Amino acid sequence: MSYDEIEVPDSGQKIEVVDEENDEISVPEDPIIPIIHGDGIGKDVAPAAQKVLGKAAEATGRNVSWMRVYAGQSARDRYGEDVNLPDETVEAIKEHRVAIKGPLTTPVGAGYRSLNVALRQTLDLFANVRPTYYLDGVPSPMKAPEEMDMVTFRENTEDVYAGIEWEQGTEEVEQVKEFVEEEMGFDDVMHDGPIGIGIKPITEKGSKRLVRRAIDYALEHDRDKVTLVHKGNIMKFTEGQFGSWGMEVADEEYPDDEVFAAPDSLWEEEDEVDIPEDAVMVEERLADAMLQWMQLRTDEFDVLAMPNLNGDYLSDAAGAQIGGLGIAPGGNFGKARMLAEPVHGSAPKRAGQNMANPTAMILSGRLMFDYLGWGDAADLVRDAVEETISSGKVTYDLERQIEGGEKLGTTEYAEAIIENIEKLS
Ligand code: NAP
Repeated sequence: MSYDEIEVPDSGQKIEVVDEENDEISVPEDPIIPIIHGDGIGKDVAPAAQKVLGKAAEATGRNVSWMRVYAGQSARDRYGEDVNLPDETVEAIKEHRVAIKGPLTTPVGAGYRSLNVALRQTLDLFANVRPTYYLDGVPSPMKAPEEMDMVTFRENTEDVYAGIEWEQGTEEVEQVKEFVEEEMGFDDVMHDGPIGIGIKPITEKGSKRLVRRAIDYALEHDRDKVTLVHKGNIMKFTEGQFGSWGMEVADEEYPDDEVFAAPDSLWEEEDEVDIPEDAVMVEERLADAMLQWMQLRTDEFDVLAMPNLNGDYLSDAAGAQIGGLGIAPGGNFGKARMLAEPVHGSAPKRAGQNMANPTAMILSGRLMFDYLGWGDAADLVRDAVEETISSGKVTYDLERQIEGGEKLGTTEYAEAIIENIEKLS
């Protein structure tokens, strides 16, 4: 494919699909990987991450051919004021299957829709996966942050994030209100006066494929438990149904001695449930209770699978327990497709100052390396980051929380990690 604004690297090969349904790709030793630097601090952290990841690939006998693609401000600069997400960018990511992005700014209230949500929906990246684990030396508000080792699977395409909503004062919102009141019979629920309305779709397809991914992950990575987190006691036909469909997957699609769907787990303690030895247990928990258990009984949880909104809140809260947004990585997965991205946003007040912490983006790259089957490069990235932080070399966000730390700029911190990659390889 030829592009107008995107420069295709003169070396490197394409990642090919082997079996889309079963999420299998074939990865050359020199893949072309599209990268969106992003807005705000994206301009600081993405080039730093690119250097660190490139070095780790090289140290394990490979080469990444980066292909810059554009979204957000960088797209408006190149393609014109109205173009936030060029078709070329979407096509390049589709064609090359695996990509990485920095944060993109989303205006609140008016303006364009979230580019992150648009990318996830357009590419059908249905699972947002965030491994949350403690790195030695990182300051944390918890007494025992090392107990945190969770992987959250957040449904990425539906729920109240589907974008089906109507603005107050429009003819459409009044039509929807009238339909709900007069046709559906909810005539004494909504207050009089201006109103905004949104719809919360939760489908069988969306719920089951997410839960399936989480269970497969637990089986592949030797995890003990998958917890389905929802608010089904109140939102019975959406969140509650997510839980029921998820339990159906566990119950019907796997042998009992491999995956055990714990009946009535919503209201029972785990030790009251008889689980076959070595099976992955799938249980349900309510989202509000889960937010406190995550802090008070951290080591009891393992893999979490959730509808979109719960997943957004819970994964940020889990990230805070191990030191905050600057170090929390993430990835969006579809069928034979992955887009790595840090959890944090574009933090505009820190942008362009060589201050921001690139760890989250670097560790998102680690997740990408794992997906490529480059486990050795992924481990090298983690070890080098951990070595750097535990030697006290950190960016401003961590330095202000630890005594005796050495505050480095984004670039200098990335260079310190690169030195450790050289030492460790
Ligand atoms: P944010 O950009 O994540 O930043 C909030 C605060 O977190 C920052 O002010 C900073 O705290 C800290 N922080 C975040 N990333 C950091 C890093 N790499 N290094 C050090 N500190 C970091 O959240 P926001 O201010 O709510 O959102 C800003 C914009 O980003 C919005 O337009 C939002 O929609 C967008 N956003 C995009 C994504 C995405 O692209 N996936 C995700 C979330 C938000 P201190 O001020 O204390 O230093």
